[in-house]
Amino acid sequence: MRSSLLYFTLFFIKIAVQSCRLTPTTGAIRMQNFDGIVIGSGIGGLVAGALLAHSGKQVMILESHTWAGGAAQGFSRQGFDFDSGPSFYCGLSDPQGLNPLQQVLTRLGESLATVVYDPLGHYHFPEGCLAVYGNSERYRKAIAQFTPQGAIEFAQFEQRLLKIYQGLKEIPAIELRADWKVIPKLITNYGFSLLKLLPVLGDISASVGQIVDQTVRDPWVRRLIDRE
Ligand SMILES: Cc1cc2nc3c(=O)[nH]c(=O)nc-3n(C[C@H](O)[C@H](O)[C@H](O)COP(=O)(O)OP(=O)(O)OC[C@H]3O[C@@H](n4cnc5c(N)ncnc54)[C@H](O)[C@@H]3O)c2cc1C
Repeated sequence: MRSSLLYFTLFFIKIAVQSCRLTPTTGAIRMQNFDGIVIGSGIGGLVAGALLAHSGKQVMILESHTWAGGAAQGFSRQGFDFDSGPSFYCGLSDPQGLNPLQQVLTRLGESLATVVYDPLGHYHFPEGCLAVYGNSERYRKAIAQFTPQGAIEFAQFEQRLLKIYQGLKEIPAIELRADWKVIPKLITNYGFSLLKLLPVLGDISASVGQIVDQTVRDPWVRRLIDRE
């Protein structure tokens, strides 16, 4: 997976740097030549820089480390590759995916080679090894092998979250902004989706821990959710 991660990081660096037409320089940088200056070349900074450049702005990305990517790094030892940061990006294999990074790639008109995990991974507990599947029915069946009652409660927990998801998934993260203009934008373009969220406003303002407390009593599943 590390090769995908490095590819991912390098890909964004390529977009950000090429789009910004930046060249390494040892001389003084004239800040007035740039429309925007991004501090930090983690995924967040690279995404911000790439989007600004894509909309025609001159951008400078500054990084204090010797290598771009921020937390997204990896290393090799004795022929083995290790991710020291993220290795798992849900939804990056689907061009229409809801992953905000995927939405950025789509906005930039770029695609990315990905590896689909099946199962997503394994958790090793003293009681045995649990395969984690993206498909919720397969995942519930795997949990039921450890605790049938817990699997039922897990499904109830999942349903509570899915109701929030049904409303939120229609509002692309890339459409959000940090100032007050988000309000008229959401009402104009996503008014119907906002209405769908009204019945679950309580759950949206609750923490995941509170929803867990209301739906899951089984200690094994509570530990599993804590692990997640
Ligand atoms: C061990 C681990 C595993 C993770 N696993 C996953 C995963 O599987 N899936 C997932 O989606 N997420 C995962 N994450 C979270 C993900 O890595 C982060 O959310 C994401 O990489 C953060 O990106 P960022 O750009 O916000 O910040 P960072 O990656 O922290 O980037 C900040 C950058 O800014 C630079 N910087 C800071 N201050 C200055 C300054 N004054 N001047 C210049 N540069 C500066 C830093 O050097 C750094 O390069 C994981 C994180 C860790 C640590």
